[in-house]
Amino acid sequence: MRDTAEGFRRPFATCPVPAQQSRLIDAVCPGANIRHAPEEFDAEYHPTWGPVVEARLGWSSDAGLRRNASSGGGLSAILNFLIANGEIDYVIQTAAAPDSPIRNALTISQVADDVFRAAGSRYAPSSPLEDIGQRLDAPGRFAFVGKPCDVAGLRQLARRDPRVGQKVVCMIAFMCAGVPSYRGTSALLAEMGVEDESAIAAFRYRGDGWPGFATAEMSDGRRFRMDYDTSWGTILNRHLQFRCKICPDGTGEFADIVCADGWYCDDAGNPLFDEQDGRSIVLTRTGKGEALVQRAIAAGDIITAPLTLDEMTKMQPFQAKRKGLVLPRLAAVAVTFRRLPRFENLELAVNARKLGIRQGLRSMLGTLRRLLIQRGAG
Ligand SMILES: Cc1cc2nc3c(=O)[nH]c(=O)nc-3n(C[C@H](O)[C@H](O)[C@H](O)COP(=O)(O)OP(=O)(O)OC[C@H]3O[C@@H](n4cnc5c(N)ncnc54)[C@H](O)[C@@H]3O)c2cc1C
Repeated sequence: MRDTAEGFRRPFATCPVPAQQSRLIDAVCPGANIRHAPEEFDAEYHPTWGPVVEARLGWSSDAGLRRNASSGGGLSAILNFLIANGEIDYVIQTAAAPDSPIRNALTISQVADDVFRAAGSRYAPSSPLEDIGQRLDAPGRFAFVGKPCDVAGLRQLARRDPRVGQKVVCMIAFMCAGVPSYRGTSALLAEMGVEDESAIAAFRYRGDGWPGFATAEMSDGRRFRMDYDTSWGTILNRHLQFRCKICPDGTGEFADIVCADGWYCDDAGNPLFDEQDGRSIVLTRTGKGEALVQRAIAAGDIITAPLTLDEMTKMQPFQAKRKGLVLPRLAAVAVTFRRLPRFENLELAVNARKLGIRQGLRSMLGTLRRLLIQRGAG
């Protein structure tokens, strides 16, 4: 995996790819193909939220971790439980790169301090599956944390490769509105007032509170900050890759457990981004994920509160509607004769109908316009 000039992370073939490998890639790569196998469901399939065994709010019982993490540290608390209980040898996750605080890197966590350092959202490209072949061959059982697409890729690999079932104890995703490029990070830093990216000693996109601030600490001790609503809502979300705009799985439907922001809402149901003690949404999607969360609750690692799907719909208004946008946007892709990804058993038509003809048409035309402008630009 390499970073491109556009600031995204892409696979490069280092040698000719044998036909058999090429067929495997085509079957499991989430960019090309996202397909549920309904016989794998442990719970009824909700058209918008996917398979849900149980929905909860949750946060780490460790106040330091709760504060450091992205939302309530629910995700990290579950990882810590798995490590402390000896259920895994390590975690594959994503953190700031050791050689650059403004780049991401796959990181291996073996103790709670490692999990603490990797906590938080890094709104930039990541490739936590980049060495999965070696990991599956090496000794040790692990938990995997990734974007919904990473987890879908691993789940689809599990259908063809028995090593996944033997080595991967738990697949955990977070809800994802899309991956911004590193150009997004640069635009954010410039807007924050950072003139020299090479003088940044530490950088976080959020966390240290909920939602916390994008914060750059310079080697001369100066600090630059920007609130979450501005950083995500007006800068980073303008740098998403196109594939994320036609993503049918922003909510991690292939994971055992999914975490997300459990935003408080105003009377009209709009999420509020005032600073609060963090709360994660904790969704379990498989019996295995549910049993694990129950053990982490019993051990005191995570504190939970009840959550209904209606409440979650208010907390996550974008995720509640985005599946409905997929078919209209795919129609725009088809009209421009681009290659279409294959999506199956995701109830996209139900969601498109729920969204309505007007919004669907508007979304299709918007996508078509963007694609034609792109083509015009060569
Ligand atoms: C690109 C992106 C888009 C997101 N979109 C949404 C959204 O639409 N709605 C929503 O509610 N939440 C979204 N989140 C996730 C959210 O910010 C929180 O991570 C989530 O709420 C869980 O919080 P937590 O405190 O339980 O997690 P933490 O305990 O802080 O753990 C976060 C985990 O995410 C991993 N991680 C961080 N960045 C990346 C990355 N780029 N790639 C792979 N793994 C990573 C870390 O290694 C860590 O294991 C997004 C996160 C990212 C990175």
